[in-house]
Formats: sequence, C-alpha cells, structure tokens
Amino acid sequence: MKAATPVQAILDVCERAPGYIRAIAPYQPGKPISELAREMGLPEESIVKLASNENPRGASPKAIAAMRIAIGETGRYPDGNGFALKDALSKRCGLAPDRIVLGNGSNDVLEMAARAFLAPGTSAVYSEHAFVVYPLATQAVGATGIAVPARDFGHDLEAMAKAVRGDTRVVFVANPNNPTGTWLGPKAVRSFLEKIPVDVLVVLDEAYNEYLDPGDRSDAIRWSDEFPNLVVSRTFSKAYGLAGLRVGYGFSHPQVVDLMNRVRQPFNVSDIAQAAATAALFDDEFVEQSTLLNKHGMKTLTEGFLRLGLSWIPSRGNFVCVKVGKGAEVFQRLLKQGVIVRPIAAYGMPEYLRVSIGTESENARFLSALATVLK
Ligand SMILES: *Cc1c(COP(=O)(O)O)cnc(C)c1O
Repeated sequence: MKAATPVQAILDVCERAPGYIRAIAPYQPGKPISELAREMGLPEESIVKLASNENPRGASPKAIAAMRIAIGETGRYPDGNGFALKDALSKRCGLAPDRIVLGNGSNDVLEMAARAFLAPGTSAVYSEHAFVVYPLATQAVGATGIAVPARDFGHDLEAMAKAVRGDTRVVFVANPNNPTGTWLGPKAVRSFLEKIPVDVLVVLDEAYNEYLDPGDRSDAIRWSDEFPNLVVSRTFSKAYGLAGLRVGYGFSHPQVVDLMNRVRQPFNVSDIAQAAATAALFDDEFVEQSTLLNKHGMKTLTEGFLRLGLSWIPSRGNFVCVKVGKGAEVFQRLLKQGVIVRPIAAYGMPEYLRVSIGTESENARFLSALATVLK
C-alpha cells in the first residue's frame, strides 16, 4: 500500500518492526563528561565522573605503547580471528584458542550468546537487580525474560535454578554483579551448574573478576569440559582500563564457541583494540595497582558513608551502591556540583546511587559533594 505522506510512511515502517523491538527501553549509559560540561558551562577538567565503573587510572602504559604502533595499520581490516590476542589469552589461561571467542566488549559476547541460543518462543533466566544487558539482549531476539527475585540484593541461585523452564535456553549470572556488587563463591556457582540441565547455556559474566582478592578470583574458565554448557565472559573494560576500545572475551567448549562465532560480526574487534588488549594482558603490575587503588578507595568511600549516616551494599567490584533516599534527586544535585554518578531506579533500586571508585582526589570530591547535597 502506498503511504499518503512521508510522516505516514515513517509511522508505517516503524509499525512493522517486531513488537518486542518496539518495546525495548533503551540502555541508559552514564552521562558523558563532555555532555555535563556543555549543559552546565563547566570546564571538563572540573568534572568528576564515577558513573561507568571505568578504571580511574586509564590504560596501562604497555597498552598505550602497543596502540601507538597499531595506528600505522588502520588502513587494513583487523585479523578477524584475533590470532595474537587469542594466543596470548591461551598462554595466560592455559586453554586452547578454540575455546575463546572475542567480543567488541564483553557486552558483545553476551549478545552473541543470546543470538546463538535464544529465539522467539524461548526464555532466558536472570536475577532481579542484575546487569541490564541480560534483559536487553533477551528482548532484542524476541525471547522471554524471567527475572528471579534477588536475595539481599544478590542472585538467589536456588530460585534461579527452579525458574528454569522447558523453553529456557540461557541463564545469565553476574559474578560479581553490577550494580549491586554482590558475589557468589565458587562452591555456590558449581553446585548451581550441577542443577542446570545440560541443554541450557549458563553465561557466567565475570567482568569484575580481577577486582576480587587473589584467592577469590574465579577459575570457572577451566570448567568447560565438565560443564560444556558454560560460557564465562571477561572484559578489558574494567581493571585493564580499556573501556573505550571495546574488547571482551568468552571461554567455552569449542562447539559452543563455534556457534557464537557464526553470529559474530567478522571484524568485531578493531586492530588497535586487539593490540592494546594483547599488551595489557601481560601487565600484571598495572592490574594489581588498579585493584589496590580500588581497595583503598572502597574503604575511603564506605568510611565516608558511615560518617554521613548512610548505608551501602557491601561490594566486591569497583563500585558501590549507597542508599540516599531519593536517588534521582540526589543524582541531579550532584550533577550541579560537577559530579556524575549513576542513578539505578531502572534496576529497581530508586533509593540507591551507584558510585564507581575513583582516584583518591575524585573520591574526596565526591564525598564532599555528597555531604553538601545531603545537608
Ligand atoms: C561493564 C560490564 C560488562 C562489560 O562491559 P564491556 O565494556 O562490554 O566489556 C559486562 N558485564 C557487567 C556485569 C558489567 O558491569
């Protein structure tokens, strides 16, 4: 049928998009520094952004040196198979390269899992207050999301195992979880995996694994022979300080990796990103210093909350949720002070703000701004 007017045509074409796409609530990213600077007429240097769980130290010098060299090659397509990065990951982790899938951020790995295993008529299970990409990736492929009520803001693994239905194809678990920072020990995760049917994929999202104390860091990447239905995702965006480059990876059984590669964009990780990640992977000192800074910063922030009479959710990540009452209002008042944090009403937590751990001076700026706006 011919549309009467261009306006009508655009309405028609949008009407034809699947209902599950039209129903998606867009992802709300942390407010960029440049945007707040424009809105408030503030110099960018005066703004503190603690809103996206980035590494306040930036990238490792080794990664920066590798990027400088890679700039000379940007006229060419990257290696679509990511040979050097997979080889480096394989050496670091002692797993064959055919167990590794590379992503444009680990967000891409989560979406590949959804695209490869979900479709209309299937369902995915995840926790209430869990990372919002799980419902988004589920909805984008027309599958049904099953959000399982949390326990003390963390995943209730027993309830999640019970929530798996005949049509469930994927279960998402974030460990530690964002935004709550809750953590599940390896025993709990293993006994959960034992309860999940072998024909249901479990995506274990370990974006913050490096921030755990060394003895608590996960070795789930090694469980894929026992649990071939397990995908473990990790990222260079957080402790490695490469959020702007978009590199993440997943470990799984080679056949699962093969399926995910079929829905992967052929050149999903840029050459500069691959070069930087390969170098960053061997900079242990940078990661250890970052986790140490995080530990101190976490102590500074929580001691500050205590002085202000505020409660918080104990966190194992590089961020913490603090209870401020009217989250959206306090967020706006902090913006006026040049401090960007993250309101999390969309996560069902309107009374909380999520604050990323910054440098010593950023943490101090945030705490004094918080004290001012709560007065
Ligand atoms: C930040 C984050 C990710 C990944 O981010 P990428 O930059 O896409 O790697 C994945 N899961 C959780 C829980 C996160 O907080």
